Amino acid sequence: MSRFIPLSIPNFEGNEKKYVNEAMEQGWVSTGGAYIAKLEESMAKFLHTDNVAACQSGTAALHLSLVEAGVKPGDVVLVPPLTFIAAVNPVKYQFATPVFIDCDDSFCMNPFKLEEFCKNECSFDNRVLRYKEAAVKAVVVVHVFGNMADMVSVIDIAKKYNLKVIEDATEALGTYYTEGRLKGKYAGTIGDFGAYSFNGNKIITTGGGGAVTANRSEVVNHLRYLSTQAKDDPHYYIHNEVGYNYRMTNIQAALGVAQMEELPGFIRRKQANYDKYKELFEGFELGKLAGFREGTSSNKWFYSLEINRNKVKASMCEIITGLEKRGVQTRAIWGLINEQIPYKGEITYKLEKAPYYAGRILNFPSSTQIKDEEIKYVAGQIKDVLLGFSI
Ligand SMILES: *Cc1c(COP(=O)(O)O)cnc(C)c1O
Repeated sequence: MSRFIPLSIPNFEGNEKKYVNEAMEQGWVSTGGAYIAKLEESMAKFLHTDNVAACQSGTAALHLSLVEAGVKPGDVVLVPPLTFIAAVNPVKYQFATPVFIDCDDSFCMNPFKLEEFCKNECSFDNRVLRYKEAAVKAVVVVHVFGNMADMVSVIDIAKKYNLKVIEDATEALGTYYTEGRLKGKYAGTIGDFGAYSFNGNKIITTGGGGAVTANRSEVVNHLRYLSTQAKDDPHYYIHNEVGYNYRMTNIQAALGVAQMEELPGFIRRKQANYDKYKELFEGFELGKLAGFREGTSSNKWFYSLEINRNKVKASMCEIITGLEKRGVQTRAIWGLINEQIPYKGEITYKLEKAPYYAGRILNFPSSTQIKDEEIKYVAGQIKDVLLGFSI
């Protein structure tokens, strides 16, 4: 059987071609053009926030956030170990030092350990948190796979220790609280800064691209200014700050405007498909489908199966290869960032859950256009391969 079910592919069933053609016909292909503002407006409306700046990538959005948060060489930024490395690399761009804080069972940052680190390992004088000599300026919280981090706790801790909160919402566009103190608040609009990504595998895509928001509209304007080479004057080349070439192009934005129109439908399909998988994996002993935080509505961007390591000893590589042979593309959760060469020797704080999950989580096909019959096939093949490896 020569079938192939991909992990996560883009879906262009809407106005994508129409809008991109229009941008090209009008000649607005670069960082000017109406689609950029249109995308920013539609995102702001969707996220119930005042202002959003479109930029080149999620990584650029995160970098701009750190710059704006005042992260300088030698400062400390608290970061997660179990996520995509782009969440942490911008800390190095600023010549700052990451300190890795463990995750919890949501795969997102463990707020208790975050607080414990601030309380027990740092000093707090004059509203400045210090780890050894270094000022601890910010915390980067990732909403992993579309699952909301425990923002209620994170916000309180950050307030207490005067930390800027940078939400990496690159995987969580459309995830929001349905209950509690943050009811109605969307991932990325809760902390000081929120970063989104429109890379090809995300819930919507512009090929490559991203967006950044902040809790005050003026701050977003400044982020937009930094993203456009910090140009201060329409006629003369006046630049009062060091800027970046991080602005989104109009072609990307044209794609983005069409994708934003489809986003609510994409989320509904991801949620419905998750429920179908849930039923199929019900009671399966060798793997457990990971859930999403209570009191939130998740975009359910990516699905995860926790492999029962008491019963399945095969390596992730063996499992992935086995499924590949049956036409099912899967992947393992990321390798720990603190174990990657550029980060070896950096400080880690009580990492227990992150290494535990690093060897156990398998992600499997979650594209919006996957068919019911394919979902059944995927679940069946995963079960079969894991059974074949079970002891
Ligand atoms: C995709 C992703 C990024 C980076 O986004 P790009 O647009 O690819 O730069 C950052 N953090 C996480 C968690 C991501 O999944």
